[in-house]
Amino acid sequence: MTQPSICYFDNNATTRVAPEVVDAMIPFLREHWGNPSSMYAFGRQVGEPMDRARAQVAALINAEPREIVFTSCGTESNNSAIHSALLTQPDKRHVLATAVEHSANTKYCAFLQKRGYTVTFLPVASDGALDLQQLEASIRPDTAIVSVMWANNETGVLFPIQEIAAVCRRQSTLFHTDAVQTPGKLKIDVRELDVDFLSLSGHKLHAPKGIGLLYVKRPVKYQPYIVGGGQERGRRGGTENVANIVAFGRAAELVLANLPDENTRIRSLRDRLEDGILAGIPGTARNGAKEPRLPNTSNIAFDGVEAEGILMLLDQAGICASSGSACTTGSLDPSHVLTAMGFSAARARGSIRFSLGRYNTEADVDYVLSHLPGIIAKLRANSPGE
Ligand code: PLP
Repeated sequence: MTQPSICYFDNNATTRVAPEVVDAMIPFLREHWGNPSSMYAFGRQVGEPMDRARAQVAALINAEPREIVFTSCGTESNNSAIHSALLTQPDKRHVLATAVEHSANTKYCAFLQKRGYTVTFLPVASDGALDLQQLEASIRPDTAIVSVMWANNETGVLFPIQEIAAVCRRQSTLFHTDAVQTPGKLKIDVRELDVDFLSLSGHKLHAPKGIGLLYVKRPVKYQPYIVGGGQERGRRGGTENVANIVAFGRAAELVLANLPDENTRIRSLRDRLEDGILAGIPGTARNGAKEPRLPNTSNIAFDGVEAEGILMLLDQAGICASSGSACTTGSLDPSHVLTAMGFSAARARGSIRFSLGRYNTEADVDYVLSHLPGIIAKLRANSPGE
């Protein structure tokens, strides 16, 4: 199958696996396919590369290797952190989250509510910001954990994680942050942030799908979410996904090496795209604060059109973008993030997210800027309201 040429602006949904990462993982599919828990050398030989990968991902976030628990994805990491906080503190049955978390958090919280736990979803302002005084006032004696994402996957809006961690510390409450969207875009230092748990997902940083991690600060108590063998020092049962773990390590190493350069380059491409759309197409507005925001994300509302129509015509031109989070694309529900920011269902349904990444070029941005005005004009001309 030959790779069609695409103009990819959906890096918050997933990223292309870096060629260096593919090269690093292939030997663990072809040759070194033993089980790391086995007694013979053929299996045990994969232990050292896994240790290296653990050290590489730990270095990305300035953690100790033994504070890393490999999981299958960001969703599992988020679920695991909340699950553990509830199990290790059985007398605490309240979870504090925000209304704009990823469904990997909100749906798990809704699941908990049905089982008798209490969850508070904090509101956000129209620019996506959180009120920290309200957050502090919402922490209760029975709050087991506060779980707040660092960067919003739909708008790119950043929450002040270090300040929230300080609030939680003051209130003696555990704090988890979903940092899935941050690698390659922000410096991640768990010591500086002072969080108890932090989630990452490999496929957002040019590693394959099916690998994630949960950082668990020492000596925070931890109860496994997946119970089975003694893998991950008893913190996550299941034979290790060796090739993906090695890939994750290599991808983390590349992210660390490329951070300053990518961040600046991608930010300037994003700004050029966003400025070009806002200036060149009437009836457009950015959703969410300009800053503080991820350098790669732009979420734009287009008056009088449906995102579905825009995405279809973009697709015909070979451009990949998305409306809201990938997990809700295909459903007619307006984005819960944009709705929580107080936007009408019509505005939420007419909004598109462009998320850039390592492999985007100026030519990609120019290509979108040359096609989008015509697409919007065509849709508006055909819209019954016009
Ligand atoms: N959290 C955020 C902020 C995300 O953007 C995503 C994926 O889109 C996830 C969690 C879930 O990660 P995964 O797809 O690895 O389960």
